[in-house]
Amino acid sequence: MDIRTRFAPSPTGDIHLGNANTALFNYLLARSGGGKVALRIEDTDVERSRADYEERTIDTLRWLGLDWDEGPDRGGPYGPYRQSERLETYAVHVRRLIDGGHVYRCYCTREELVAERGRAGEERKSRGCPGGCRLRAERQAGGKPGGGTPFTVRFRTPDNETVVVNDMLRGEIAFRSAEIDDFIIVRSSGAPVFLLTNLVDDALMGITHVVRGEDHISNTPKQLLLARAFGYAAPEYLHTAVILGPDRSKLSKRHGAVSVEQFRREGYLPEALVNYLAFLGWNPKDEREIFPLGELVREFSVKAMSRNPSVFDHRRLLFLNGQWMRTIEKDRLVSLCSRRLVEHGYITAAEADEKRQTLEKIVAAAGARLKTVADIVPQADFFLTEDFPYDENGAAKHLKDEETAVTLEAAAERLRSGRPRSAAEMEEIVRDFIGETGVSSKKVIHPLRMALTGRTEGPGLFEIMEILGEERARARIARAVEYIRRRGGSV
Ligand code: GLU
Repeated sequence: MDIRTRFAPSPTGDIHLGNANTALFNYLLARSGGGKVALRIEDTDVERSRADYEERTIDTLRWLGLDWDEGPDRGGPYGPYRQSERLETYAVHVRRLIDGGHVYRCYCTREELVAERGRAGEERKSRGCPGGCRLRAERQAGGKPGGGTPFTVRFRTPDNETVVVNDMLRGEIAFRSAEIDDFIIVRSSGAPVFLLTNLVDDALMGITHVVRGEDHISNTPKQLLLARAFGYAAPEYLHTAVILGPDRSKLSKRHGAVSVEQFRREGYLPEALVNYLAFLGWNPKDEREIFPLGELVREFSVKAMSRNPSVFDHRRLLFLNGQWMRTIEKDRLVSLCSRRLVEHGYITAAEADEKRQTLEKIVAAAGARLKTVADIVPQADFFLTEDFPYDENGAAKHLKDEETAVTLEAAAERLRSGRPRSAAEMEEIVRDFIGETGVSSKKVIHPLRMALTGRTEGPGLFEIMEILGEERARARIARAVEYIRRRGGSV
């Protein structure tokens, strides 16, 4: 059987880690078996769906590196792939359910329904429909409200059956039909509901496997009942494990970033996110940690998936991101970092081009300090302006007395040469200076770093000196000397 899976996002917000996680597993399941993936936009909730969210969803999925064979953006044999363009199909299906006697009209008011929802199991009447609409419909009894009274269409759930969901991860999960509500399939507005549209489309689009979050498990028996009513073969279902926050409650905004876009803004790499997302529900059963998407496709198997909840571990994601920052092509890393500096207004796009070589050196000097692309800002800002502030504690400690001012002045003189020098040459000069003057290296290195960067930590001092060049380094030292004297440093 050729595997066909789908991403079925609802464009009601930015996609979050949970959506991306299930999208990834749909992708891996299809691609690892040479199958196809479709993108279907589930936008039947007119009030909450927005076209810009659809665009962003597609953009985010692409950014993650996922791709699909069919979708609203590229067509395909089972289109349209946007549910709002398939309303006629759903209407035909609703008609089939009406003709088959599988549904009835429910005239219960919102107030009645709200009151019903508050009732506990035993007291609940006719599964979600408190007004006896089902009975009335069955008896064909009169007393129906007059025309124009709003109604929903409910599925007539069978009374005493067991509906078995055969989940690919969890095995058989049995539901007693008596505990399943007569679920609504058409709202009073006439809009078909997710349970129906999703099942109908999976069937018509030839979807063989549905991978979705555990929170959908209670929907699945209802959809199996619908499939049977239509005479459709239901797809296989795999409900992925829920993702929990560090406090083991369901991952939500309370725990910090949850939307993929936010991680993107915070400077995470798509490779790292995908790599990490794969670990939320799957693992290679060995020590390996770095998995490009292609390798995930090769290694993936449902057997290696877990149904136990996974706990989102920000530190691990950050660690993986740091690894990926050193795995991707240097050129791309430099471009990403430059773009970030442009976005933050440290340089213009034109300057980023002109200063490309310098930026390459800045990125190299930052090295493993770059855990995310965003980290380039504190690693690079002082290179790009002469007007950086001094870290207060650092200045109090290392730019404080006339002795330091004198040492810095002498060091600046040593740097005078009129030609560019490598980090190694800079190091030699400073080491010689320390050796000859007998000033302790701490009293040279720390004030120099403060003078050149305004802070106590950062890239290697000699790399910094190479990047700045003699002239700028000396000007910065002069500024620090002036600062010391202005503050009235005494010997
Ligand atoms: N639109 C649904 C959601 O975003 C799809 C669920 C499914 O994959 O069946 O939750």
